[in-house]
Amino acid sequence: MSKALVVLAFIGLSLGGCTAGNNKPVKQKQYKYYCTMHPQIGADKPGICSKCGMQLVERDTTR
Ligand SMILES: [Zn+2]
Repeated sequence: MSKALVVLAFIGLSLGGCTAGNNKPVKQKQYKYYCTMHPQIGADKPGICSKCGMQLVERDTTR
């Protein structure tokens, strides 16, 4: 592989990374119950975390 090709590939990769990071921020759904270890894991009803199996705790909605 010539040096120019390597540079081109590198530029393409960085451009690709840029556009990938340009995704519209997806508004995260606020679940009623969530895992304290994995706040991104949640459910609308009591259950267990699909990652660690911990009991989901109810989100404090009084604030
Ligand atoms: Zn978890």
